[in-house]
Amino acid sequence: LAELFKVNRSTVITAIEELTSYGIISGRFGAGTRIISNTWSLLLPNTAEWNEYLSSGYFQENNMIVQAINKLEFEPDVIRIGTGEIDPRLFSKSMWNDVLNKIGSKISSLGYLENLGLLELRQAIAKHIAKSGIIAKPENILITSGSLQALQLIAVSLLQKNSDVYTEAPSYLKSLQMFQSAGMNLKGIPMDEKGLEYWKLSTSGKQNSILYTIPTNQNPTGITMTKARRQELMNFCLENRLPIIEDGAYQELNYNGSIPPLKSMDSNGTVIYLGTSSKTLAPGLRIGWVVASEPIVQRLGDVKMQMDYGASSLSQWALVEFLNSGLYDQYLEELKIELKKHRDQALQSLKKYFSNLASWNKPSGGFYIWLTFKKDIKIERLFEEAIKENILLNPGDIYDFKENHSLRLSFAYVDSEEFARAMEKLSIITKSRVG
Ligand code: PMP
Repeated sequence: LAELFKVNRSTVITAIEELTSYGIISGRFGAGTRIISNTWSLLLPNTAEWNEYLSSGYFQENNMIVQAINKLEFEPDVIRIGTGEIDPRLFSKSMWNDVLNKIGSKISSLGYLENLGLLELRQAIAKHIAKSGIIAKPENILITSGSLQALQLIAVSLLQKNSDVYTEAPSYLKSLQMFQSAGMNLKGIPMDEKGLEYWKLSTSGKQNSILYTIPTNQNPTGITMTKARRQELMNFCLENRLPIIEDGAYQELNYNGSIPPLKSMDSNGTVIYLGTSSKTLAPGLRIGWVVASEPIVQRLGDVKMQMDYGASSLSQWALVEFLNSGLYDQYLEELKIELKKHRDQALQSLKKYFSNLASWNKPSGGFYIWLTFKKDIKIERLFEEAIKENILLNPGDIYDFKENHSLRLSFAYVDSEEFARAMEKLSIITKSRVG
């Protein structure tokens, strides 16, 4: 907090202690700090009782570390070695100029769209995903405002409060939050280097339970489930009548050839597949898609109309142009070559600076390396000390709600020199300041 708000650390601690002793706030590390009394209304007598409102609603607040990350990501000069996004310096202005100019002359209206999204985009996506073995008609595809919205739609339209959601442990923070906020029970299942250890999953038989998995270049661990494990998992889920949400956010980012998505092995509609343009092209487009059987797509599309009347049509037209012109495939190949270089250099830096301190995996694609310290170090402390050196970390415990000694490292957002410099500094901090 002190770093975040640029005040002395002891001032923050004293202020928190004082406000707590007056009963104005209450907090616990990891769960955030809340205002619990109406003292503000004594200080500002004419304001509404907003404090009560602020702690209401079914979304919980982010914990302090996540709030700090969300703020610090936008501070200048911060080296972001955990960020799940492509380096903005790789953004190709000329390519986007081309695409935006073309759509500018093609579109004749920007009205509301039909409830499943732009037909031209659904056709283009159907053609595109066929290359990875997913056979779908435009009627099996729903365009969403990012795949996070797809998860929210599934949570509020198909699941129930108290449904069990089985996930890899650890898993993508925002997906976990989405299910948790909607009242589902999260059940974390461990992974080995081949992916989810599905045999450790014992289904409770609760209504509308579901498995949520990120089988390819998993967020946050970078693990890719092997083909054999995928087949076994599909068989297990069929036998146990457990439907699957397959989050394919990093599906297209395998560097050495693609691995079949679960959806391509699905002959009876067990899998709901989620795709997105955020990890390959641009998260700011806010375009994702669901591939599922028609009744599922219709149900989600119906709720989406109630929620936001459809995803941005400008963004949808832009993606149509990318896909149909062939630019997307061409760009993707170049991106994978670049990311592979980043990965290799990141691994070299880790070997140089962390060999005695931690262990890690070698991802076959995507953005992430999961680093686990050999000693039980205090990750929170490391986070704070790293901020002092302008290094922003993504601590591992934000991805599974329990303490661990890991970091999600991303080699996508920084260049190799920045990554190496950050690793050098981080190794020094780990040895000298964090016990
Ligand atoms: N799923 C996973 C596994 C992700 O990593 C992300 C983005 N970090 C998302 C979903 C959300 O992506 P979108 O921008 O499409 O909402």
